[in-house]
Amino acid sequence: MGDTIFGKIVRHEIPADIVFENDEVLAFRDLNPQAPVHVLFVPKRTIATLNDATGADAELLGKLLLAAASYAKQEGFDKEGYRTVINCNEHGGQTVFHLHVHLLAGRRMTWPPG
Ligand code: 5GP
Repeated sequence: MGDTIFGKIVRHEIPADIVFENDEVLAFRDLNPQAPVHVLFVPKRTIATLNDATGADAELLGKLLLAAASYAKQEGFDKEGYRTVINCNEHGGQTVFHLHVHLLAGRRMTWPPG
């Protein structure tokens, strides 16, 4: 699986509304938000889908989730709550093949998801 639009965002080749960045993780607002707050957390190193993650990625995946949780706490979403989602392949609804964690907040979520 080759480069994606998220790879271009990670390399700052195209603009995005970036809310967090460190050496391994970038977070930016979703172009088509599904909640008042909708931020995508992506590893800078490309992993196409969750299927492609291996034991070597365990620490990076942990850091991705912790970055999302830390951002939620910083923005004050932790008390009321929020949702994190990783879509995988067609039935999971994945459209960009650079693994990412959706952070959705600012409204009550429903279950089951569509
Ligand atoms: P997926 O469907 O793969 O889980 O999520 C991809 C997400 O990326 C979608 O929510 C979509 O709105 C968002 N997205 C697609 N292209 C862009 C883009 O160029 N910039 C930003 N900020 N978000 C994008």
